[in-house]
Amino acid sequence: MADCIFCKIASKEIPSKVVYEDDCMMAFHDIEPQAPTHVVVIPKEHIASLDEISKEHKNLLGHILLCIKDIAKALDLKEGYRIVSNCGALGGQTVGHIHFHLLGGRQLQWPPG
Ligand code: AMP
Ligand code: ZN
Repeated sequence: MADCIFCKIASKEIPSKVVYEDDCMMAFHDIEPQAPTHVVVIPKEHIASLDEISKEHKNLLGHILLCIKDIAKALDLKEGYRIVSNCGALGGQTVGHIHFHLLGGRQLQWPPG
């Protein structure tokens, strides 16, 4: 996707502070952190949002969740953390490439705003 900022991060066209990377996914520090630890986790494949996933993405999404658990451990979030995937306009999604926010390092409130 030519105009997708997260595709450009995945291809290193736009630099980011990478926390984890493998052949199919990447995790990097959010540029506008909402918590002491705020990492954005993306598949390298362009998928617009959670609403666009299908059965063929099952392995990819399972892999991403397993890696998130390890990333949380590596970032020392042993007291807890939150995974968020904003989906669509009302969900608060601003970048149209599916991603998971990994937030931690402070007490997170519920419900979200
Ligand atoms: P969302 O609003 O759920 O679509 O999340 C998009 C997230 O991407 C926001 O938290 C932004 O701060 C973050 N973001 C946007 N551009 C960059 C960038 N170049 N590097 C790191 N994070 C970014
Ligand atoms: Zn993309």
